[in-house]
Amino acid sequence: KKQLINFEELSQILCGAADVDEQLQQLLQLFQFSDSERSLRELLMSLMQEVFSEFFPGCKILPFGSSVNTFDVRGCDMDLFLDLENTKTFQATATERQTQEHDIQSDTRSEDSILSDIDLETSTPAEILELVATVLQKCVPGVHKVQAVTTARLPVVKFIHKESGLQGDISINNRLAVRNTKFLQLCSSVDQRVRPLVYAVRHWAKQKQLAGNPFGGGPLLNNYAVTLLVVFFLQNRTPAILPTVNHLKELAEGEDHCIIDGWDCTFLNDPSKVDASENSESLCVLLADFFKLYAQFDFAGTVISLREGKARPVTEFIKPDSHRHLKFGPINIQDPFELSHNVAGNINERSGQRFKRQSDEAFKYCRSLQFQRKSNKGKMWGIVRLFQPLSSADCSPASSPANVLTIPFKLSALSEQTRKSLHGSLDFREVWFDKVCHAVLYVMESVLKCSCFGQSGEGDDTAGGADRSLDAVDEKEDEGFEEEICSGSKRPCEAEELAGTSAPKKPRLGGLRYQGEVRWHCSVWNKVWVGRRKMRRQLYRSPNKADAETSDNPGILDLEEKVTDAMLRQEGNEVKPSPLFEVQLVVFLVGGNGDTRTVIRVTPLQQTALFPEFFHFLQLFVPKMTEKYIERLD
Ligand code: ATP
Ligand code: MG
Repeated sequence: KKQLINFEELSQILCGAADVDEQLQQLLQLFQFSDSERSLRELLMSLMQEVFSEFFPGCKILPFGSSVNTFDVRGCDMDLFLDLENTKTFQATATERQTQEHDIQSDTRSEDSILSDIDLETSTPAEILELVATVLQKCVPGVHKVQAVTTARLPVVKFIHKESGLQGDISINNRLAVRNTKFLQLCSSVDQRVRPLVYAVRHWAKQKQLAGNPFGGGPLLNNYAVTLLVVFFLQNRTPAILPTVNHLKELAEGEDHCIIDGWDCTFLNDPSKVDASENSESLCVLLADFFKLYAQFDFAGTVISLREGKARPVTEFIKPDSHRHLKFGPINIQDPFELSHNVAGNINERSGQRFKRQSDEAFKYCRSLQFQRKSNKGKMWGIVRLFQPLSSADCSPASSPANVLTIPFKLSALSEQTRKSLHGSLDFREVWFDKVCHAVLYVMESVLKCSCFGQSGEGDDTAGGADRSLDAVDEKEDEGFEEEICSGSKRPCEAEELAGTSAPKKPRLGGLRYQGEVRWHCSVWNKVWVGRRKMRRQLYRSPNKADAETSDNPGILDLEEKVTDAMLRQEGNEVKPSPLFEVQLVVFLVGGNGDTRTVIRVTPLQQTALFPEFFHFLQLFVPKMTEKYIERLD
């Protein structure tokens, strides 16, 4: 199997280029298929077409994916779609004819026809694929390791071409992929800059271990998703470099119309009918801005829509009365055709955050002179550094600033009812933040038995502060909340306004506008984190130990409360004259310009050696419990 050149070789070649634009063109030349690789694939395909036609009359082998979507990379897999539509019709007519002539002649179907064993109309994809595997194994020369993988989201037959090591997949239910491949081809032919950019971003994502698993086999983005991110970025330049899918649909003519599995896949097929873009930005600028866009992107709170070429709030995609709605996650990319499909739906919180962090690092690097200017001292420069394999330091968990807890936005934590009520709403961040604030307070006070009270901005806890704050909020009511959130995220402590009140028990939360920030003064009375796990085990050893250990348990909050109570009892419940120490919690909402999330800054108010371990405990405990509380409350 042909391997791509390694990092050192690549580095040597690219560092010899004159500028970044040239580097990007070189990358393309180095990665794309050689003529011989392309013809090998074509040969293999026509061989298969020939063999399969014998067994499945009228069938068509259609390539899709990277072999043909213009983003081919040497050694990439070969995705094939076996179209059996005609074969089905053929079989149906043959069967009909045969029934009519049944009494006159004996079986007209050839004895060894494979179609006599199976009815394509009624058999399952798995059954058909087993048959395809048999044909492939027995009748296509030079192919080995044939295996039907029928349990995957998309069932396929896998094979390897012996001589070249080329890997291939054959699927039978994948017309949408053939169509989206056409769409990517079209994008490439509309503008010259698409291909070099996609190659660079794909390679960066691969080297940083952000992408790579075909068909979402793990929590990484797949190459299709990465490509859509580039297309979306290019739709959003001014002037735009690529048209929106809706625009391409408007331009469509007769034979461009196409519906697959109920989804409208209509778009103009002929790239020459798309007006050339007036945008003349260089590849160098575009690549840097690609990273900039996604480093600052609100992935959790928005859905990337290539149909409209816009990012829209997640709540617009809640379909109150439909099952065909998007599965929301840390990154939401709506497939431009199968609209209910989140192409990044397999991503988990961690890989979502890694994507963002790597984009941010790439963006910062792209602003440096090292990126823009060729080094005359023989140093690495330009795009090369973006492809540096991940070091172990980059793999360590998010290097978040000290003493900050993060609660990621999850629409799925809200109840069905709340989600429906948020349909189309722009205030969903506030609604969610309101719940998070309640939850955090509950966890601190009821579960961990700390005492909290709201503070005003300057630290005076008078009742008057609360009223003042309410007034101040009202005055600001009409100002754009989005902007407040953004500025709040940058200078969270500046806003004078607070939502908490100075009431000794719980701050009033409901109905207030937060300006993205709440503060509490919080007294910690006991070491509720020391020996907690042991106490939990003791309490719940039997009979439902399993329940106690898993966070899926809906009663986990009550359970944790009991754990704390037991720990306090163990200490003797003595009345303490003063707390162990106090902390200030500043809870603020980030979103709009940056990923939607709640951030809690925890600051100790006295010098204490206990703080680091307390904080370490909160870091895991609070986000988990908060999510559980919201699920329960809702
Ligand atoms: P490579 O094989 O180099 O990783 P690829 O573009 O072929 O790149 P695959 O994961 O092999 O990516 O997928 C093949 C094709 O299947 C894609 O080009 C796309 O057309 C389609 N496809 C893959 N994943 C999805 C998805 N999540 N949603 C819709 N279509 C997809
Ligand atoms: Mg592929």
